[in-house]
Amino acid sequence: MVKINPEFARYAMKVYGVQAQLGTFVEECDEFSKEFMKYLFRPSKDVHWDNMEQEFADVLIMTEQLSVIFDMDRVDEVKRKKLRRLVKRLEKSGHEPPIPYIEE
Ligand SMILES: [Mg+2]
Repeated sequence: MVKINPEFARYAMKVYGVQAQLGTFVEECDEFSKEFMKYLFRPSKDVHWDNMEQEFADVLIMTEQLSVIFDMDRVDEVKRKKLRRLVKRLEKSGHEPPIPYIEE
């Protein structure tokens, strides 16, 4: 998976500003959501899935950029807690994961 250089992310954040980058993140999530709805109602591997991939890439780019403004140790702790909750839900429904749920 391609990872953004954190120094580049900090540079982009400095050029555009935190508020603008947060706004762009929301816009990209909205664009992904719209493409998902198109796929949901007119599923086409050629067009709609490809459009979703394009928007997913945009969301990932913005997510990585935002990681330089948040306390990622705290975010990681929240992620661990939420992933443990997901595992419990899977187990409760009889789908115990046969593999570890976190890569470190
Ligand atoms: Mg986009």
